[in-house]
Formats: sequence, C-alpha cells, structure tokens
Amino acid sequence: MSLVSCRACGHQVDTSALACPRCGATDPGSKISRQQRNAIYFAIQLIIWSTILGFGGWYVWHSLIPLAKQYIVKPVAETPAGLTPAPIIPAHRAATATGG
Ligand SMILES: [Zn+2]
Repeated sequence: MSLVSCRACGHQVDTSALACPRCGATDPGSKISRQQRNAIYFAIQLIIWSTILGFGGWYVWHSLIPLAKQYIVKPVAETPAGLTPAPIIPAHRAATATGG
C-alpha cells in the first residue's frame, strides 16, 4: 500500500488502484496509460517478430534451399553411373556367345 500522484490530475491514489477516484484515469499509479502500454508492447512484439521472420526467411533462403537443391539434383546426376551397372558376363560365356 503506497500512494502515488495520479498521472492525469495529480491526486494521491493507491498504486494498486485500477482507476483514479477523482478523474477516472486508468492505472493512475503507472507512468503511462494501459492503451499506451499495449501499443508499446505491440510495437515491440512487431519488431521482434519481424526480426525473427526476417532472419528466418533469410536463413531458409540462403541455407536450406541450396541444401534442398543439392539433395534434389544429386540423385539425378548420379543416376547413369550408380543405378545402371554394367552387365556382368563371365569371360568364357562371352567368348562362346561371340564365337558361335
Ligand atoms: Zn486522477
């Protein structure tokens, strides 16, 4: 229980009072009104989230997409050598096949 002067009218009000009994200002004990505080919180959150999303987008664009492209492109490039092995024919059979 401590008294502070109302932000709006200067009347002594309790810090826990929700409104000034004299002028009706909300949160008379605080330096700024609830609406201003909400606006400041909103602005701070907007800055934080835009920063997170900006860095996140930058990170995805510069790190994950090239990585994903590597994974997508690599198997296609390796297909001719990796997935089609040369047929293994024993030497004597190959000789009889060509010799008739
Ligand atoms: Zn007041």
